[in-house]
Amino acid sequence: MAINIPADLTIVTLRSGGGDLAQRWTEEYAAAVLRQASDLMRSRTDIEFFRASVEQVVEEMPAGATSDTVDEAGYHFLAAAHKAGNGVRVLLVDRVSRADLGGQSRQRTRACLVAYGSDATSTSRMLAHELVHAVDLVYGRSHPERLVRERRASFMENVWRDVHGWRLSEQYFDGKLPAFETLEYQRAKSRGLIARCVEMILSTSAFDCP
Ligand SMILES: [Zn+2]
Repeated sequence: MAINIPADLTIVTLRSGGGDLAQRWTEEYAAAVLRQASDLMRSRTDIEFFRASVEQVVEEMPAGATSDTVDEAGYHFLAAAHKAGNGVRVLLVDRVSRADLGGQSRQRTRACLVAYGSDATSTSRMLAHELVHAVDLVYGRSHPERLVRERRASFMENVWRDVHGWRLSEQYFDGKLPAFETLEYQRAKSRGLIARCVEMILSTSAFDCP
């Protein structure tokens, strides 16, 4: 039986200098991107996400955070201001200061952050990565080491890439962690172990893949 995780979508427009900044996310587009990422999860696991709610808010970034894009301080502010309900909170913003800020998220917030991309398919790639973090958060089993969390999410991102015929990622780099190779998916594929690894990722906090 499928496990359904509710996702509350919050489209956040930034206000800076007395005016609202650009926001390209729409409710329809957010729903379409969530559906694509959820379909990928469901095709490989028993887990799917459904849209529990969608809202649009305007926020001014606090002192100490960049005002015209979402940086790490801004992300923590948003995650605290828009607490998750029963499932996961997906914060959709127009721009971020660097990729994968959502991987920083703390266990209690159960929030992930996705920047706008003009193509729903490639944007769902980011969400597939973030939803691995989200599953960890929802079940309270985030691995204490960020490196392990990112390896797990990168594996699922490569599942997505393979399904969509994209070049597989071979390295992870976000400017904070030292770069590392992301070849577990390639090795698992050559040994027929993809399903086993996906099951491990989505049911434990470990990442003991070939
Ligand atoms: Zn990540």
